[in-house]
Amino acid sequence: MRAASERVAPADAETGGSILDAPPLNGSKGHTTRHRLSREVRVFVAACVVYGAMVLLFTLISLFTAPKGSQTGTFRPVATIPSHELLLVLLGLGLGLAISAVRWKPDLTLLVLVPALVVLTDLDHLPSYFGLAQPIRPAHSIIFIVCTVALMATVIRRKDVELASLSAFFAHLSIDTGVFPPFSPVSFHYYDLGEFRAAFLLAAFVFAVAAGLAVRHDRHGAVV
Ligand SMILES: [Zn+2]
Repeated sequence: MRAASERVAPADAETGGSILDAPPLNGSKGHTTRHRLSREVRVFVAACVVYGAMVLLFTLISLFTAPKGSQTGTFRPVATIPSHELLLVLLGLGLGLAISAVRWKPDLTLLVLVPALVVLTDLDHLPSYFGLAQPIRPAHSIIFIVCTVALMATVIRRKDVELASLSAFFAHLSIDTGVFPPFSPVSFHYYDLGEFRAAFLLAAFVFAVAAGLAVRHDRHGAVV
């Protein structure tokens, strides 16, 4: 008989290991539920930290790489911030509910994660908040979301979280108006993407549905 420490848990065998532990092999039901809960909290925190840190990193890089002429970012009128953020949260919650609807079961982690990431995207306004000159929306960029999802795929290794992050990003772009630098921090050529807002909303919804389907598949693979 092999010692417990030598056993390879199914989830680790499946995923090759990640920051997430496999559930205990012979734990009680209560123990397993607690383990899953703490694991879900860790997934939520890890996803917010990765996403938020990447927003700040892109913002910081942009302060050095953006030409002076493009550093015209301004903070939106303070009175309009609460209603704008509320709209972002509501759309994020709607997409989180769509994920649960696809799963046919509430998924609290993604229900809270999607609106959190939708709002965290606006951390790239931080220099303006402190009165510093900065480029407009440096993290509202295709390069940002590709790098962030790649980092999540390396660190968190949950397809549903990666797809939920894509959904949150495109949901944010579907609500923002004005100009964006889609290739920040490489280029700070600004584009008005207003005509793509409906397409961004559709993309957000499609990624939410995909996140719901991904959870089901992962559960079969004993990842959670
Ligand atoms: Zn924004």
